[in-house]
Amino acid sequence: MLKVKLLGAAQEVGRSGILLTLDDGSKILLDYGVSLEGEEPQFPLPVKPKEISFVSLSHAHLDHSGALPLLYVSASPPLVTTPLTLSLSDLLIRDFLKLSKYYVPYEYSEVKGMMENAVLKGFNETYEFGGVTVSLVDAGHIPGSAMISIDTGSYTVVYTGDYALHDTCLLRMGDKSALSKADLVVTESTYAEFDHPPRDWVEREFIATVTEVIEGGGTVLIPAFAVGRAQEILCVLAKYNFPYKVYVDGMAKAANDLILEDSHLLRDPGLFEKAVGMATKVRDWNDRKKAVEEASVIVSPAGMLQGGPSEYYMEKIMEKEKNAVVFVSFAIPETPARQVLETGVFASPTKKGMVKARVEWFDFSAHCGKSELIETVKISKSNAKFLLVHGEAEAERAMKKYVEEQGREALMPALGEEVEIEI
Ligand SMILES: [Zn+2]
Ligand SMILES: [Zn+2]
Repeated sequence: MLKVKLLGAAQEVGRSGILLTLDDGSKILLDYGVSLEGEEPQFPLPVKPKEISFVSLSHAHLDHSGALPLLYVSASPPLVTTPLTLSLSDLLIRDFLKLSKYYVPYEYSEVKGMMENAVLKGFNETYEFGGVTVSLVDAGHIPGSAMISIDTGSYTVVYTGDYALHDTCLLRMGDKSALSKADLVVTESTYAEFDHPPRDWVEREFIATVTEVIEGGGTVLIPAFAVGRAQEILCVLAKYNFPYKVYVDGMAKAANDLILEDSHLLRDPGLFEKAVGMATKVRDWNDRKKAVEEASVIVSPAGMLQGGPSEYYMEKIMEKEKNAVVFVSFAIPETPARQVLETGVFASPTKKGMVKARVEWFDFSAHCGKSELIETVKISKSNAKFLLVHGEAEAERAMKKYVEEQGREALMPALGEEVEIEI
């Protein structure tokens, strides 16, 4: 009997960690991330690293990768992932360690341990371990992102990680083929309650807004996650031949360089090369001070205005009505970005006040919307079971309903609950 225990991301978004116990008692861990909601990072429930046969990582975002080094304090399980996910995770985890104002229960030496135990696989290549075949399938979420397929010989579990079944400027949609072969689909349900607006419309509205601000002499700050969203925004600007000055700052610069090395994974490598070429790298504080005074677009992490250069930019840009701050990601609760959107007040460790600049938000999501999640259910095996993760309770309940409407069974376990699944 397959057992599944959620160590995190149970009726919440953040700190993903899914522990599978197979019929023979062997254990496989899928993702091990941190939650960045609120000020202090939240870690998933503990697991005994020595008991794990291997761990597989879906993608580099910290809510999936940020707790992995904990596994290498006292053990050395193989880490199965794509080469780009490994290099981007290394970048993000080191940055997390450096910037965290709170205690993080691991050190750089454990990050090194994680890197040394990596087993790198491209999409659709296989990894065999104790009779289990693992393959990574393109998830279309961020560069390098994968769904993880685990074939035990008697049944197949597919964990979607974060995925999208729509094209973006940066990536092609995820590969659906694995979803239709799974006996158990462990799926994210972040946006189960609604659909994203049509992509072309979002892009055009975004370009029109940014252009209007710049032509009025203002500066546009786009706080963006270093991996994924920053590159998507640069690609949108390049696609529309945006004629004004674009700056890129923070970890997005290093992420751009790593992604360029694996640009064959992108939908249009030429567009991304053009996008990176169009953007001026901010090198130091002189550049930063210059950028905020110019009629320009500044793409910079942190996406939630919590640390990173975007915090500095926001302090300057918020003061003038001609400027704008344009959010391009879901605003995580209890973050400065969410507070700006909900109350118009920005608070950083060094400043607090009303934002005088224009505030906008655009839905550039790289997650499945409602229709894509329903499509996932429709293309699954008629007797497939679904286990829901990575969604607020309301979203998971909505997803459960779609699954049941299609005559399949859905489980939404609580944190730490171990469910037995008969396949
Ligand atoms: Zn993600
Ligand atoms: Zn996620």
